[in-house]
Amino acid sequence: MDNLLQLKDKNIVVMGVANDRSIAWGIAKALISVGANVIFTYRKERSLMKLEKQLAKYENLQPLVVQCDVNSDESIQQAFKEIGEKVGTIHGIVHSVAFAHAEDLKNRFIETSRDGYAFAQDTSAYSLIAVANAARPYMTDGGSIITMTYLGAERVLEGYNVMGVAKAALEASVRYLASDVGGDGIRVNAISAGAIKTLAAKGVPSFNKILNKMEETAPLKRNVTPEEVANMSLVMLSPLSSGVTGEVIYVDGGYHIMGV
Ligand code: NAD
Repeated sequence: MDNLLQLKDKNIVVMGVANDRSIAWGIAKALISVGANVIFTYRKERSLMKLEKQLAKYENLQPLVVQCDVNSDESIQQAFKEIGEKVGTIHGIVHSVAFAHAEDLKNRFIETSRDGYAFAQDTSAYSLIAVANAARPYMTDGGSIITMTYLGAERVLEGYNVMGVAKAALEASVRYLASDVGGDGIRVNAISAGAIKTLAAKGVPSFNKILNKMEETAPLKRNVTPEEVANMSLVMLSPLSSGVTGEVIYVDGGYHIMGV
């Protein structure tokens, strides 16, 4: 398996571990298990403490951990400069970051504020472009960038509101980025994960309803696990998917193919 993936000793930046339930943490664990050199970015001290607690479970693992607030160009530039200078080549990036103000998920969509709209776009969609641009000078061997999206980008899902619009922009950005950096051997793809109970998911008011509906309706008749999202992430980060870019790959038990 490790030989097939060719991720051993590859430098992969994982952004978005808030705690042990984060999708990014599931991906990081899978990357560590195949011998990748994982570099972590975090936003807040609270996340850093939780990350350090998880990392302490691994003997002999002292990964590079760098602060990065994707709402700030300076912070992104600084983080990738530090990563690039310390590890040399960056082979992959996991962008697993999103945020919207709680009121914009609770209120009616029509009441979305200008600020709330801009903030959700900035954090959840524009950040992918800024990160790719900051990392590009260090992606000298080509590489793979993946981001996490959700079906709310293309269908109206109750309570997803402004985040659905941000995910639509994220998926379009994946296509434009893929086209722009494909000549440098860099691939850009999104993974559309089924609903998973995480901190971010708690912000979506109807989340439990969504979980139940997926279990009932998805062809696999169950929700997906973080491990399943992590496994597909390994494939998308590895040369196994070398011919794929600009795509949205669904890891949702097939839910998106169904009618209502
Ligand atoms: P999570 O809360 O564990 O992760 C979200 C991360 O975004 C956190 O680590 C948070 O610190 C980070 N973040 C927010 N604002 C930031 C900023 N300004 N700078 C840097 N980091 C910032 O939740 P998650 O569910 O693991 O979410 C990860 C990604 O997966 C998100 O893009 C989310 O939309 C997407 N996703 C989640 C689900 C789900 O059901 N949980 C489904 C599909 C897609």
